[in-house]
Order: sequence, then structure tokens, then C-alpha cells
Amino acid sequence: MNVLVINCGSSSLKYQLIDSESEAVLAKGLCERIGIDGRLVYQKAGLDKEITETDMPTHKQAIQLVIDALINPTTGAIKSLEEIDAVGHRVVHGGEKFASSVVLTDEVLKAIEECNDLAPLHNPANLIGINACKELMPNVPMVGVFDTAFHQTMPEKAYLYGLPYEYYEKYKVRRYGFHGTSHSFVSKETANFLNMDLNNSKIIVAHLGNGASISAVLNGECVDTSMGLTPLEGLVMGTRSGDLDPAIIEFIANKENLSISEVLNVLNKKSGMTGLQKGGSSDFRDVQDEIKKGNKLAVYAMDVFCYRVAKYIGSYVAAMNGVDAIAFTAGIGENVAMVRRKVCEYLGYLGISIDEETNLKTFGDEVVLSTPDSKVKVAVVPTNEELAIARETVALV
Ligand code: ADP
Repeated sequence: MNVLVINCGSSSLKYQLIDSESEAVLAKGLCERIGIDGRLVYQKAGLDKEITETDMPTHKQAIQLVIDALINPTTGAIKSLEEIDAVGHRVVHGGEKFASSVVLTDEVLKAIEECNDLAPLHNPANLIGINACKELMPNVPMVGVFDTAFHQTMPEKAYLYGLPYEYYEKYKVRRYGFHGTSHSFVSKETANFLNMDLNNSKIIVAHLGNGASISAVLNGECVDTSMGLTPLEGLVMGTRSGDLDPAIIEFIANKENLSISEVLNVLNKKSGMTGLQKGGSSDFRDVQDEIKKGNKLAVYAMDVFCYRVAKYIGSYVAAMNGVDAIAFTAGIGENVAMVRRKVCEYLGYLGISIDEETNLKTFGDEVVLSTPDSKVKVAVVPTNEELAIARETVALV
């Protein structure tokens, strides 16, 4: 079965065509600058990337261009539209309505729309992508896979804020968590890879990418995660502050003469690794280079990042009353040995030790880092959100 996986943003759209039997990526790419001018990146497996500057005023036109590229007689991955058996869509926010993936019926689309105010930047864009696909492929089944769904198993004590309960009742202000598709995929892969019984396991997944979050997965179910109502809570990230004293918002607004939404823009886009380095790069390749050059702010930023990760892991060991395995994943988790080493150094009290030689050699592969005598297994387990969406889609159609 061929599944087209679509991750649609407000001006960009990523896609992959996956053969669900072999789990091979047949073709992938992205549309950028939709509604501005337009750029299509297309890559058939085994061939070079093709980049075409082309007008794409709407998402529908962008998806039509993707379809045209996929069925192109010379470089296409398939012969006709009939070879797309299903489409899996990433949807950012499912609120409390969706605890698992669903087939996208009209009723479901309405329910997703009702979650728009929880993710005003993302959900409307996701819906535009879904509707465009439905118009262009009316007979192909479509599935929605939610970033929040995996975290819906969190108990009240983990998802309720210490706020007036009416805010939860009236506005559904609570912790939701994000990156759920990745946390679900990686926790399952970790159990498989380490020969553990998922249904009898305590796994902590550290999804450390530009956006970063940690989750505590007890017997295959999420019991806590670091992101909240929005992806701003939790870890220090590329450009997001993560946890802070909420009183800072008013304090900075007064000092800098900013509105609340302007301060929030700073917290989302100008903080984290970037902000700590006074506008420096959020990319850990650059941060490591700066550290080598002796840049003190880069050293602080790295330390703040790792310390926060270690504190969250410690708190999730408490949440689950123990831990069997810790998995590092996403761009930083898979590639940055310094982060893994620094985080694990804080966790010596748990009897954790990792093999530094293996750690230094590990980039994006599934690898056990812990030494045989370590009390907790530590591994790098690459995430693959597109494959996870394709699997969910196949399971439902
Ligand atoms: P997102 O999906 O949130 O954009 P990713 O999981 O793709 O994030 O991670 C992107 C980040 O991972 C980059 O900003 C960079 O900090 C880090 N990263 C990716 N590859 C490498 C690498 N080879 N070496 C060091 N850091 C890397």
C-alpha cells in the first residue's frame, strides 16, 4: 500500500510517499513559500533532488504540483494517482477530542476546527492541507494523526495546572503535550530494540530537536510530558524559553514597553539557545563550534540546555517510580554526543553509565550507549514521524 504523508504548515508543506509493506520512502520533498511565490523540492528515492521555482498561490495548487511530480513519466515514483492508496495528515492539536488517529470524515474535520483556538498557527493550516487533498483525491481515504493524541493518557495530576479549575472547565486550559507521534514511535522502537516488554516498562523519551520535549512512558502509555497547553513549556529549546516564572512576562513587558503578545514572541522566537547567546545560532553544530572557540555564552547555553533535560528526566523517574530505559532522539538527541554525555553525567545517581567511545561515534543510528553494568539502559533511537504517520494510516484504512 502506498501512503502519502502530508505535513502542512501555513506557507510550506512536507510530503513523503511511503510503501507501507517495505516501509521504503519512494519519494519525498517539500513545497515552500506557498502563497508568496513558490518552490517545489522533489526527490525520488535514489535520484538527486529536483528544485523547481514555480507559482503556487494556494495549498491546492501546491498539492497538485506534488501529485504531478509523483506521476511524472520520467522521474515520478508512481504511474498514476490510483497508486496512492491513502493519505496520512499530521494534525498538531486534537485537544481532548482525539486520543488516537482517526479517519478524516466531515464530522472529524469539524471537531478539528473546534480545536483551532488551541493551536491558531497550526491547525487551520493542517485543515487547509486536508481539504485541498480531499478535493484533489476525493476517493482516497485520509487519516489524521495528532501531535497531542499520545499524551491523552496523562492523569489529571499531570495535566492540570495549579490554576482556577474553571479555566479548565471553560477553556480547556490544561497540559496537552506535543511531538506525540515521535514519543509514541520512539517508545515502541526502544522497547523492541532493547528486547523489553513494552507493557511492563518504564521508558523516558528525550525528543531533542529544534523544538524539544521529554515524556514518561509507563507500560506503553504516556503519563507525563514536558510541553503544555502550547509547545512553549518545558525544556530550553532552539528559540523557545521553556519553563519560566510567569511573572517575568509582565516584568519584561513593562521594562521593554512591549505588549503581552510581543513578549510571547520573544519567548517563542528569540529565547532558548538563540537568546542565551544574544542572538546566536540555535543550531547545535554552531553552538559546539562556538564552544570550541571559547565563547562563554555558548558554554552557558549548552549547560542550561543539558541541565534542564537532566532535571526533567529526574522528575520523570519520580513520576514512574523508576526507569528502565532512556532514549535520545531527534536532531540533537541523535547527533550531539556532548548533550548525551552531559545529561547522563547528572544521572550517575541512578547507576547510569554510558560508553563514551560509543557515544562519540553515534550519529543517527539505533545504538545502545549504556555500559553492560549500567542500572538503566540508555540508547539513541532515531525518530521517524512520517513512517509513524504512515503506519497509523495503514492501521486505520
Ligand atoms: P525540528 O524537527 O524541530 O526542526 P530536528 O529534530 O530536525 O528539529 O532537529 C534539528 C536540530 O538538530 C538542529 O537545529 C540542530 O541543532 C540539531 N542537529 C541536527 N543535525 C545535527 C548534527 N549533525 N550535529 C549537530 N546537531 C545537529
